[in-house]
Amino acid sequence: MRRISLLGATGSIGSSTLKVLKENRDEYVLTAAAAGSNVKAMAAIIRNFHPLIAAMADEKAAHELHKIVKSEGLDTEVLSGEEGVIECARFDDADTVVCAVVGAAGLKPALEAARCGKILALANKEALVMSGKLFFDEAKKGRSVVYPVDSEHSAIFQALSEKCQGTLGECNLQEAGVDKILLTGSGGPFRTLPISDLDHVTAAEAIAHPVWNMGPKISVDSSTMMNKGLEFIEARYLFNAKDDEIEVVIHPQSVVHSMVSYIDGAVIAQLGNPDMCTPIARALAYPKRIKSSVKPLDFFSLKPLTFEKPDFKRYPCLKLAMQASLRGQGATTALNAANEEAVAAFLKGRIGYKDIAECVEEVLNRTDVENIYSLDEILSADVKARAYCAEEIAKRS
Ligand code: NDP
Ligand code: MG
Repeated sequence: MRRISLLGATGSIGSSTLKVLKENRDEYVLTAAAAGSNVKAMAAIIRNFHPLIAAMADEKAAHELHKIVKSEGLDTEVLSGEEGVIECARFDDADTVVCAVVGAAGLKPALEAARCGKILALANKEALVMSGKLFFDEAKKGRSVVYPVDSEHSAIFQALSEKCQGTLGECNLQEAGVDKILLTGSGGPFRTLPISDLDHVTAAEAIAHPVWNMGPKISVDSSTMMNKGLEFIEARYLFNAKDDEIEVVIHPQSVVHSMVSYIDGAVIAQLGNPDMCTPIARALAYPKRIKSSVKPLDFFSLKPLTFEKPDFKRYPCLKLAMQASLRGQGATTALNAANEEAVAAFLKGRIGYKDIAECVEEVLNRTDVENIYSLDEILSADVKARAYCAEEIAKRS
């Protein structure tokens, strides 16, 4: 039996992971679950999956959950706070940790899982954007293996050689004959909107993604293509790629999940219905294949597949992320923090849509430390960028 600890269990990736576990209940068991504050959803998970431990980052939520668990006579031990979430990441009764916490909050638990030698199915791209080199160094020291859950990175992983798959973080793309990684993205809901209309875009419009059904933060990131920018950085760390070894390609139908182009002219793509259960199943079962509940593609009913170059005028966030990636860890950490703050302010209606890119750009202009490595340096760069971004948000609210 594979024993799974699921961090971010109540979210979009969390629910898809539970679906995959249910589909394979003879081989996989949920032993730990962690989330932020959604007590109702966590209580339902405990009733259905009976994990040994469950943590809520929010102390009040943990208290409420504890009351429910006691009153219903359930056996799950309830933990609380950030430490409780980290406890789930290092839990001895789990060999595999799915890290699907959203944003910077996922960094410490993901690092802990890496240090403890877990098999790590990583959805939380922000953790890699904030700490790429440190993360892989810790995973190596802890004898942890990392498998990408992000659909594009899962596709790239599947299109690479076995040797590259076994050396994530330090693989040699040249030796594998790779010419380029082609990172695809749908272009989001505003791909064809006149650029001048972007000023008036609302939060509800931004989170209504045309293809994928995801959490609110990543949905906004998809519309600005900051998500692709974060994925560009994520891919650089995962596949040890130089910036000119990755090209972003817009593919609105989201059927091709990314591709690898080789020096002999061959291009290997991974295709499938856009459903996160496929890359989750791939990360959980590698090198095996398991059922994911996703239906195979029906090629006879597919719409034509199209590909476009991204326009940086429409997607300034993509450009900012690619530039930050060239500058180094200090810049990518600041980019991630500023983006989280700006997106949260946009979702609350405090700033406009175009302000997201402007705020992030201003924060990056004020960020001067590029070469950071340790967790302390990363966390202090994160705090500083959030403070700068709060000033930028206040100017615009
Ligand atoms: P959601 O917003 O749907 O879910 C986020 C999860 O994180 C929830 O379970 C939430 O708990 C939990 N959480 C929030 N804060 C904390 C905290 N401090 N400690 C522990 N848990 C916390 O996000 P998604 O599922 O969409 O995304 C999760 C991650 O996966 C992100 O990094 C995203 O970039 C990545 N990803 C998502 C994809 C998708 O299709 N959704 C695709 C590729 C990557 P609660 O609800 O209880 O507050
Ligand atoms: Mg993705």
